[in-house]
Amino acid sequence: MNINQLIADFPLLQNLKALEPVTWLNPQYTTCTEGLPHVGLTADDVTQAEQRLARFAPYLSLAFPETLKTHGVIESELIAIPAMQQSLEHRYGLRLEGRLLLKKDSHLPISGSIKARGGIYAVLAHAEKLALEAGKLSSAQDYAVLFSDEFRYFFSQYRVAVGSTGNLGLSIGIISAKLGFEVTVHMSAAARAWKKQKLREHGVNVVEYAEDYGVAVEQGRKQAATDPGCFFIDDENSRTLFLGYAVAGRRLKKQFEAKSIRVDEQHPLFVYLPCGVGGGPGGVAFGLKLAFGDHVHCIFAEPTHSPCMLLGVYTGLHDQISVQDLGIDNQTAADGLAVGRASGFVGRAMGRLLDAFYTLNDQEMFDLLSLIYHQEHIQLEPSALAGMPGPWQMTANQSWLAARGIDRRKRENATHLVWATGGGMVPAAEMSEYLAGSKR
Ligand SMILES: *Cc1c(COP(=O)(O)O)cnc(C)c1O
Repeated sequence: MNINQLIADFPLLQNLKALEPVTWLNPQYTTCTEGLPHVGLTADDVTQAEQRLARFAPYLSLAFPETLKTHGVIESELIAIPAMQQSLEHRYGLRLEGRLLLKKDSHLPISGSIKARGGIYAVLAHAEKLALEAGKLSSAQDYAVLFSDEFRYFFSQYRVAVGSTGNLGLSIGIISAKLGFEVTVHMSAAARAWKKQKLREHGVNVVEYAEDYGVAVEQGRKQAATDPGCFFIDDENSRTLFLGYAVAGRRLKKQFEAKSIRVDEQHPLFVYLPCGVGGGPGGVAFGLKLAFGDHVHCIFAEPTHSPCMLLGVYTGLHDQISVQDLGIDNQTAADGLAVGRASGFVGRAMGRLLDAFYTLNDQEMFDLLSLIYHQEHIQLEPSALAGMPGPWQMTANQSWLAARGIDRRKRENATHLVWATGGGMVPAAEMSEYLAGSKR
């Protein structure tokens, strides 16, 4: 590929290459009516995922007692963060019109990150398929039976493998081991030591690589291909993971209704999603579009050192280009976002339904991590802060507001939702290091 020609054709690449924080308004953005048919998945697919999770709820509440209070449903809290909002108004020198909310996927049960949606769902879907095909289970049955030696023995005949920067491995490792599978997690260099340790404590086989995420995935895929009894979970292309994430849309709608928060033409909703390979934010955005239609605006956030989705969608090259091709190093403290090459499917599927993309530097994430820790006593990992500057960044952008017909009144009525994607299970010592990062 001729990079110089590409930069000439796509001038924003110059800024990406220089590691400058950028905002890119997506010119392909369109209505749900126009955009949703391009996704290749439907509301029915999401309903099926919802129903599958409901079938597994009795199992989950037995296997993971922390899900008892939600009756085996893996869901996170939606909260206001007024002290943080005030601090950020000072920090950015701009009053935020509308209210700021936080979606605490960081504190999802079982694995403490957004991957507890897609990752766990993918393993459950696979387990169900094996058990149904073997005639050991019927979908009308109470899935509590899966919490038994008989089923653990049944699943122990099969293997699950995944390549991960950390959180996906944590989710897939924990649920797979609990069901009884023999599970291997191929971990990239960036993965935290405590995540590897936690997995080993759960009886997961952890293979470490000195290279980045792409290499861990490739090696994992290669090893799994030689073993017909092994299911390799492909984060980069999986529709199953995507649907597991998409379930968040309708659930969020119910949470809004319970809090009497309106989302309609006069009350727009803006959602800021940290993006790695794209499945998590892409799946959530799909679910949100199905639930709220054109009244929700989804914005993706990436580190300046790993802007793979922006790069892929902006150039139209998707997974045919990596940040390394542009001379960007993919080195970031934001573990879950340290991805050099975007999903081959998410950008193509969702490209018309996303409002904008922006990048931010690691220092900003560390500063915001410290700020929310002190202002709201909420513990997050760096990735989870990527969405936090979004409301200020975007509402300062007059051309975007004008293009979307968002006037003064709608801005005052708006809800800005920052999706906090991880950090709930970070050990205290690691958290101290993160907090020290804000003073660097
Ligand atoms: C994985 C992850 C993301 C992004 O999800 P992708 O599917 O990789 O785009 C964001 N934040 C955290 C903490 C993650 O672990």
